[in-house]
Amino acid sequence: MSGTSVQGIAVVTGGAGFIGSHMVDLLLSEGLHVRVVDNFVGGHRSNLEHHKGDENLEVFDADIRDMDSIRPAFDGARYVFHFAGIGDIVPSIERPIDYMATNVQGTVHVLECARAAGIEKLVYAASSSCYGLAETPTLETHPIRPQYPYALSKFQGEEAVMHWHQVYGLPANSVRIFNAYGTRVRTTGAYGAVFGVFLRQKLAGKPYTVVGDGTQERDFIYASDLAKAFLAAARTEKSGEIYNAGGGNPQSINRLVELLEGEVVYVPKRPGEPDVTWADITKIQSELGWAPEIPFEEGVRRMLADIERWKDAPLWDPDSIANATKTWFTYLGNGRKA
Ligand code: UDP
Repeated sequence: MSGTSVQGIAVVTGGAGFIGSHMVDLLLSEGLHVRVVDNFVGGHRSNLEHHKGDENLEVFDADIRDMDSIRPAFDGARYVFHFAGIGDIVPSIERPIDYMATNVQGTVHVLECARAAGIEKLVYAASSSCYGLAETPTLETHPIRPQYPYALSKFQGEEAVMHWHQVYGLPANSVRIFNAYGTRVRTTGAYGAVFGVFLRQKLAGKPYTVVGDGTQERDFIYASDLAKAFLAAARTEKSGEIYNAGGGNPQSINRLVELLEGEVVYVPKRPGEPDVTWADITKIQSELGWAPEIPFEEGVRRMLADIERWKDAPLWDPDSIANATKTWFTYLGNGRKA
């Protein structure tokens, strides 16, 4: 029955997606009643099937672009975790309106529903892409320089969250996610996140398509660690705060290849991609007492244990990547050093 949990009700938008489903796992294990709001475009029911029959999980097939469709999920809610949105660089360059409608206006709909429900705390899933080509390690106060519409839309969503906090007193925090990885990372759709690309290539016995020389580093953070960061950002008394969440320990793409084992093929470096992403996590560590727990080697091991999930994922090679990233080079390459 809904709302019977002593810990209260948590709404997870995008709860059938990659990070959202890890959030659902954590909330259920902490004794909360969870309401997933998902339109099942990027999200999949299979990401929640291990909770089948759990009375503390309700699923709302609803779209954040349609406020009336999501409103009922917020009734009596204590916490809201807002992960719903659309990702990937290239489609955001090709379809900016969709990105603004979902990631900005959709967020405004979530904020209005949360406000009407009188929630205790909303936590927004922001993106470290707002920093653009940043100095590292990157602090929350670093200048904002989105490089493509996806980054802009996620940042404007965050601005809306902070505005609702400021104007309406909505209790809310934002967590800027660095490179999230983990089981259930997306297997379908546009060319994107390196794990999905490489795991499928490994299954097919094809070389890993390494961008540039592979020395670029990313601040990978395992999804279940992220879920803990979000819960800490909900439980804190603090409000109106922005926190970086990363591993704080960047890993090179060459190191990832070493752990996965196999041949490589090189594809051109592209404009707008930082050489290093590296979160300064001092603020979240000191204010929320959060720290990443899963070392990179362990996270990669878990993903390899689950590699069969990628057997139907798209298989990328240098030619199909060149084709898929054409728009990227055209629009982001303007005289910029690639
Ligand atoms: N990458 C790669 N080969 C691929 C896809 C990505 O070497 O086929 C690299 C990419 O250059 C970047 C890192 O992996 O340095 C992470 O890319 P992803 O798209 O996952 O995340 P980003 O940090 O770019 O948002």
